[in-house]
Amino acid sequence: MIIVLKPGTTTEQIDHIVERLAEMGLRHELSKGVKRTLIGVIGDEDVVRNAPLRAIPGVEEVVPILKPYKLASREFQPDDTSVDVGYGVCVGAGSLGIIAGPCAIESEDVLLEIAKSVKAAGANILRGGAFKPRTSPYSFQGLGEEGLKILKRVGTELQMPVVTEVMDPRQVELVERYTDIFQIGARNMQNFNLLSEVGQTKRAVLLKRGMSATVKDLLMSAEYVLSGGNKRVILCERGIKSFDPSTRNLLDLSMVPNVKQDCHLPIIIDPSHATGRPELIPSMALASIAAGADGVHIEVHCRPEEAMSDGQQALLPEQFADVMSRIQQMASLFDKQIPKPERTSE
Ligand code: PEP
Ligand code: MN
Repeated sequence: MIIVLKPGTTTEQIDHIVERLAEMGLRHELSKGVKRTLIGVIGDEDVVRNAPLRAIPGVEEVVPILKPYKLASREFQPDDTSVDVGYGVCVGAGSLGIIAGPCAIESEDVLLEIAKSVKAAGANILRGGAFKPRTSPYSFQGLGEEGLKILKRVGTELQMPVVTEVMDPRQVELVERYTDIFQIGARNMQNFNLLSEVGQTKRAVLLKRGMSATVKDLLMSAEYVLSGGNKRVILCERGIKSFDPSTRNLLDLSMVPNVKQDCHLPIIIDPSHATGRPELIPSMALASIAAGADGVHIEVHCRPEEAMSDGQQALLPEQFADVMSRIQQMASLFDKQIPKPERTSE
């Protein structure tokens, strides 16, 4: 249910409503919009339905949320969410997150070289995997904590927020020490224990769409994180399974307006994993911005033939710089900002 408050409702009245909800054993989420303040009420459906909420002073209307995802829906929050990921970089509500870096962290020198090039080209978030979800148990699995330390050092040196994948609820505490953003990979989009665990943290979450997940599945997964109290969720389309082997996956660009119709969270596109082909990545990155995406996620490597994972789809730094300059033009055409990471005082 959503409680719509009367215009001019006082803080005391809001506190009173919140107290009454707590007494009824119901949880709440306050959403202060430009025009109206709403309170989303979460709890046992029967209790919510039968609670005499209309009788509380300040309440104008009580309306059911029709969507199965509540906190992710625009019924609950009509305005776009902007997710602050650190170093002054925000994603969503007019700001683009440009995530770039290698698939896996291989060594400090290699990561630093790539990171310097993507930052110079205009990327505002550095990526790199320390725990890699590989199809084969014999493939390189990532450097683990050593990789996380490298990522943190490079991010701090270049003053850039970093994102890395967390695969298991037992890794959340460890990964949280080193990263600004948790990445939940496609294979773990419905690892509900993992989603709940990152939902308990204050770190932003990049939630990738599972390769066979529907829009509703993705938004229900986002709901797990949001309902844990973590509001900083960024969605990511990275392609879905298809019958056509000519691309690694099938990029569903309609996902952007599709999601945005009902959901206030930012959504970015990963044309690297979606196509698996460097020559297709630039046009798909530009198309993503044209479709209204809040950013892109692109794998870059200085020597793709030596990369320990996903080298075949990596862009060279100069190719990334070229697409970046076109993304910048596209951004100004669509009135979007690409925030530059700012130095922190620490
Ligand atoms: C990755 O980002 O390197 C990755 C493994 O992505 P996905 O989960 O989308 O396959
Ligand atoms: Mn990869």
